[in-house]
Amino acid sequence: MKATILLVDDVKINLDILRELLRDRYNIICATDGKEAIEVVDKQKIDLILLDIMMPNLDGYEVCAILKKNPKTTHIPVIFITSKVDEASIARGYEMGAVDYITKPYKKLELLAKIKTHLNIKHLIEELEYIATHDTMTNVYNRRQFFKLAIQKFNQNSTNLYAIMIDIDKFKNINDTYGHHIGDVVIKRFAKIVKNNISADAIFGRLGGEEFGLVEEFENIDKAKEYVEAIRKEIEKSSVLVGDKLVRFTISLGFAQKNKQHKSIDELLKDADIALYEAKGSGRNRTIFRKRG
Ligand code: GH3
Ligand code: MG
Ligand code: MG
Repeated sequence: MKATILLVDDVKINLDILRELLRDRYNIICATDGKEAIEVVDKQKIDLILLDIMMPNLDGYEVCAILKKNPKTTHIPVIFITSKVDEASIARGYEMGAVDYITKPYKKLELLAKIKTHLNIKHLIEELEYIATHDTMTNVYNRRQFFKLAIQKFNQNSTNLYAIMIDIDKFKNINDTYGHHIGDVVIKRFAKIVKNNISADAIFGRLGGEEFGLVEEFENIDKAKEYVEAIRKEIEKSSVLVGDKLVRFTISLGFAQKNKQHKSIDELLKDADIALYEAKGSGRNRTIFRKRG
C-alpha cells in the first residue's frame, strides 16, 4: 500500500512541483496553510509531512509544535522544506520536533531518498511498538500493556468500570490429550472470539498462560453480567477441529465492579480473581460476580 504524504505550502506552484515529483510513489494530499494542515491530519491517516516554514497565520514551526504536542499526531515524521537556510532556523526546525530539514533549492533525488528513509524508520518504530505491546501468539495486549492501559482507565475514575478475569478450564487436559500445539490453537481461538465480542475501547490482554484480563465500562451491572455470560456461552459453543474430531472447551470468569474501596487497578483485579477462583471451585464453565463490602 502506498504511503500518504501531506504537502503544506502557501505557494501553489511549490505544491504542484512537489506533487509532480511524488505522485507516482505516494498518495499526495495538499494543504495551503497551517490550519488546513492540522485539520487534514486530524481527519486522515498521514504517514509523513513536508512542511513549509514561512506561511501566513500559523507558520511551519507552530504547525510542527502543535502536531508534536498531540499524542495522536506526534509520531508523524515532519520534514521542513524551506528557503530559510540560516543555522538558527535549521536548529529551530529540529527543536520543534522535525526529523529532517531540507533547504531550497533541493536536490530531487536527495528529497526522495530522505522521504523513503523516514518512512522506513516510522514503519520500523510501529513494528517495534506493536511487538512491545502485544502478545505474539494471540495478538491481544501483552501483560505490560494491559496493566498500563488498565491503570489509565482506572484513574479516569468511572464507577462503571469492571474488571473481568478469564481462565480456560482444565486446559492442562487439552495439552495432555491433544498436544501443546492444539493447546495453542485453543488459546488463539479463545482470544479471537473474545476480541470479536468486545467494544473498541475495551482493554483485553493475556496475563499469562491461559489466563486473560478484560477491563471495560458498562452502563450497569445487568449489562455487564449479560455481556460476560455471552462470552462464556460463545466459547462453550465453539470448537477446534483436530483430525476428524471437534474439541470443545470452556472458560470460567470472575468479575468485579470498581467502587470507592478499590484504591488501585490491582485491588479491582484481585476481586475479579477471587471471583474467578470461586467459579473454578464451584464447578467451572461459569461466571461469578464479586461484590465488595
Ligand atoms: P483450571 O481449570 O483450574 O484452570 O485448570 P487448568 O488445567 O486450566 O490450569 P493449570 O494452571 O493447572 O494449567 C494450565 C496449563 O496451561 C499449564 C501450562 O503448561 C499450560 N500453558 C501455559 N501457557 C501455554 C501456552 O502458551 N500454550 C500451551 N499449549 N499451553 C500453555
Ligand atoms: Mg511559504
Ligand atoms: Mg486454566
